[in-house]
Amino acid sequence: MARVMAKRVFQMLVAHAPGRVKRLVPGRVKHWMKSRYARRNVLIDIVGSCNLECPSCPSGAAERNPGGMMSLETFERIIDRVASEYPGTTVDLFNWTEPLLHPQIAQFVQITRAHRLRSSISTNLNILRDPDALAAAQPESITVSLSGFTQPVYVIGHKGGDVERVKGNMVRLSHSLLKAGSRTRVEVYFHKYRHNLHEVSLMREYASSLGFLFKAGWAYYMPIERVKSYVEGTLPGHEREFVESRFALNIKRAVEATEPFRHEPCALISSSLALDCRGTVQLCCAVYNSKKFSIGSLLDTPTETIEKKILTHPYCDGCMRNGLHIYALWHEHEIRSEYERIAREGSGTQSG
Ligand code: SF4
Ligand code: SF4
Repeated sequence: MARVMAKRVFQMLVAHAPGRVKRLVPGRVKHWMKSRYARRNVLIDIVGSCNLECPSCPSGAAERNPGGMMSLETFERIIDRVASEYPGTTVDLFNWTEPLLHPQIAQFVQITRAHRLRSSISTNLNILRDPDALAAAQPESITVSLSGFTQPVYVIGHKGGDVERVKGNMVRLSHSLLKAGSRTRVEVYFHKYRHNLHEVSLMREYASSLGFLFKAGWAYYMPIERVKSYVEGTLPGHEREFVESRFALNIKRAVEATEPFRHEPCALISSSLALDCRGTVQLCCAVYNSKKFSIGSLLDTPTETIEKKILTHPYCDGCMRNGLHIYALWHEHEIRSEYERIAREGSGTQSG
């Protein structure tokens, strides 16, 4: 909490202190303060779409953000700026989209590494064009995100996907990483719903047999604006039906449980920097609608202006009043034990 407050104070100073005051601060002190307090986890959607249509994700919904692909040239300019403004940060090459759709994914990893920044990828792994190139590029981590071991179960959460293709790609990826002697950390992340708990151990065994780490966690609904719509009763019927029948974590109870923590500052407001595939900064990584939440082009907007717009965005008051900033980061908050309890109850098992 103290660190969140310190970052908040630092960023308020960046946004509001007059230029003549900032110029008095020596360069080395600025660099130290940036790496300590201005370090934002940077998330860049290098493509604008996904190959699947998961019912729990806005990329799978009817009203999607415009698609597209970031060029290597734009990415390089962005990474130059990120490396100087947020030294030492990790760059996630995804936020709401599927990064392996980009045919030059390996070069994105190389550029990030060349700027002494770490890169991470999260993928549904229904597509894997060139595992050798990806393994040779050595991203710090790859997360394979899935929700079943057999096709009838997998396809409920990952609509349009093929789990046999995913499993085949896991084997290809494992071989390529071995061949390259890569140190990339691969984790298979199993999203637990009410309907798929009996397949967790099958996937755990399969992932372990390939030398991958494995983790299972309760699926939850995002982004923030859709959670808000759900709580307010304005979510379309078919989406509401999915939320109520599939999630073990009861979303209304989860939001209500944030009540004692709603006064806390938002950790995301000072810790994430999310960009779409056009290089436009978004309010944060937990909101999706780029028409509503675009802040400005990273390359054409001074950092002070970006920080100021994020820190004073009118949407944040309502988000925090409803506790959605706590809900969005529940994995890293003390509310986690309460959410685990709600989800275990919702799953009908006490062991989860
Ligand atoms: S695979 Fe991931 S990004 Fe694609 S629709 Fe599903 S949850 Fe969204
Ligand atoms: S208050 Fe909500 S919308 Fe604003 S940055 Fe935090 S999580 Fe995002």
